[in-house]
Amino acid sequence: MKMVFLGPPGAGKGTQAVMLREKKGFLHLSTGDILRENVKNNTGIGKKAKAFMEKGELVPDDMVIEMMLDTIKNARDKKDFILDGFPRTAYQAKKLDNELSKLKLPIDMVVYFKTGINTVILRLTGRRLCSKCGANYHIVNMPPKKQGICDKCGAELYQRKDDSEETIKKRLEVYDNQTKELIDYYKAQGILKEVSGDLEAGKVYSELSEILSTCESDDRNKVRK
Ligand SMILES: [Zn+2]
Repeated sequence: MKMVFLGPPGAGKGTQAVMLREKKGFLHLSTGDILRENVKNNTGIGKKAKAFMEKGELVPDDMVIEMMLDTIKNARDKKDFILDGFPRTAYQAKKLDNELSKLKLPIDMVVYFKTGINTVILRLTGRRLCSKCGANYHIVNMPPKKQGICDKCGAELYQRKDDSEETIKKRLEVYDNQTKELIDYYKAQGILKEVSGDLEAGKVYSELSEILSTCESDDRNKVRK
């Protein structure tokens, strides 16, 4: 199953992708991770991307798509993957579809994590990061043993500047505007499914598993016909 996960920041896409990777062996493709990896390993495209990042500019769509495709091409198992947080716009989705059809690896399913603004605010404002090792915490869902201190390395925790309530509201507005067209694009293809991002992770995972098993049996029926 080749999937795209859509949803605002804080919808829990990453958490679910990691669960599917661990339990079902999906390849988890997160733009942020792939970008960081290419820069760290100093790949040809990583060097180009770094130049944009150093200027404080967004890495162009084509470069991000190229990195995603390289990772898919190099993967041992190309049948099951999740694109987490990409594409973000209908333009990116069309380009991605073009490239994936050349590889004969079209997207089978798009999961939209429908999430209320209050859930997102609660999740994001509670996030804390370690200033030294980058470990993630949440003041309610995953608190450190000692308040404000990292369990792993003892360094101080901090809150990202863009995790304030006001900034989150703005980010969500931008996200909604950006993704309207994208959601319609996938709806028109008949491959859009929805889960409730407001639920706790275990329940979302059950919803997802159910959708997955339905789609897989549909696929088998198609083959039989
Ligand atoms: Zn730490």
